[in-house]
Amino acid sequence: MTHLLSDLAPSEYGEPLPPGASPKVLRDELAAAAEWVSQYLSELTGEPVSRPMPATQRDRLREAPLGRDGVELGRVLDFVRDEIAPFPTGNGHPAFFAWVNSPPAPAGVIAELLGCAVNATCGMGDNALMELERGTVRMLAGLAALPDTTSGVLTSGGSMANLLALATARTWFLTRRGSGDGPAYDRDHARLTLYYSAQAHMSVAKAASCIGLPAHRLRPVPADEHDRLDPAALRAAVTADLDAGLLPFCTVTTLGTTATGAVDPLEPVTELCRRTGMWHHADGAWGGLGAAVPALAPLYRGVGAVDSLTVDPHKTLSVPVGCGALLVPQPEHLHTAFAHRASYLTADEGDALPWLSHATIELTRPGTRALALWATLNHLGRDGVTGLIEHYLTLADQLRRRIAAHPRLELLPSGPWPVACFRITHPVGEDPDELHARIAQRVQARGRAYLATVAAHERTVLRACLCNYRTTTDDLDLLIGEVLHAADADEPPRPR
Ligand SMILES: *Cc1c(COP(=O)(O)O)cnc(C)c1O
Repeated sequence: MTHLLSDLAPSEYGEPLPPGASPKVLRDELAAAAEWVSQYLSELTGEPVSRPMPATQRDRLREAPLGRDGVELGRVLDFVRDEIAPFPTGNGHPAFFAWVNSPPAPAGVIAELLGCAVNATCGMGDNALMELERGTVRMLAGLAALPDTTSGVLTSGGSMANLLALATARTWFLTRRGSGDGPAYDRDHARLTLYYSAQAHMSVAKAASCIGLPAHRLRPVPADEHDRLDPAALRAAVTADLDAGLLPFCTVTTLGTTATGAVDPLEPVTELCRRTGMWHHADGAWGGLGAAVPALAPLYRGVGAVDSLTVDPHKTLSVPVGCGALLVPQPEHLHTAFAHRASYLTADEGDALPWLSHATIELTRPGTRALALWATLNHLGRDGVTGLIEHYLTLADQLRRRIAAHPRLELLPSGPWPVACFRITHPVGEDPDELHARIAQRVQARGRAYLATVAAHERTVLRACLCNYRTTTDDLDLLIGEVLHAADADEPPRPR
């Protein structure tokens, strides 16, 4: 026998049909959640950075079946407090130094909740958050020193922004050649080649694969001794491919390489791209806003001439995950790549701007990204953004100095973005790369600090990234102490 859902609702108690909730229950649960969030965020520092997850816990999370009957709303908070929050990645904690993974800005946390309540869909139709997304994209463009014409979209992160960029570059390139479709497309698409430095993020090669470029059309160009793309090597690679009848369509520069924080030269790459008809995409997922920082700005001369720029506000700016952005100075190229019509999506767009779904692959899109980004940017203000990045540069400097001054540690070149790469001086024993991997694992397992390793100049090195506004110099000392403690566990006592 079937029931109408309304027959099953406990209407005799005056409760609305789930997933709805009565105003009183909703208010009480929101207040309890807010209380917990503020306590959690302020007390986090006293907890381990992360802790191992027991196998039983993993199994519970992976395999717990859905119960037949629904549970009370209050169980959401209980569940997060008891089952989720004790096992974080660790990036909320001030002694977390792995990858480029920041803690959430309070303004963003509040905005995410508020944005969920509004629940605007930012791909189609008309609503205030879609306009705010356009506004926040322009704020990012202003910080990045891109032209006033710049528009773009928010994305789930840098990987998605890079994917949109390569798809846009490909469409732009083929359309200009008259090879957007038909036999010309088949002929030309099979000859496209893509350039980036060997230090570029793996999401660039992944995006290339997603748009249908096979690995043998990818050209990771050697970087120089400072991990920057070498323009001479790039020119040589492009020339060789042109001579071979291939079609160089795009070069990707990196602003803030993941391993060591290097910034590729922009102007020589733009010049080559203009001359050979390539698109210049800059991947600034970590370092895209360097133009806003006087100490870094000279390296960003010419950034306004790139064809597209990825920035990742969930990295440097602490906007809650996931908030990335693709910025495009000539946004009509985004629309050429992504505008598709359908009978069920018609609008009198009149003189309004194209829907945001015409600039990306998503249709139903969250407005929470725009609101969280707007809230975080406005809480900081323009000077606050500059000051935050400068603060990280200072912390990185202090960490590098401590490492360089320590007889048991060897500092390796890195920067200008705030990261320190280092090794144990004269490690004893078999394989120094494995030793450093073990040290990172031991530091992670002890739970007092957290860092990861990276391959730099063909060696495995310890890498500590500064992107946490709660990190203090005490945390730097703690990190060094933990690394040395982990190294001691490996080495036999030194002869005196
Ligand atoms: C982090 C990063 C990415 C990927 O961004 P996600 O937000 O993790 O998808 C791409 N490029 C660079 C240079 C990065 O540092």
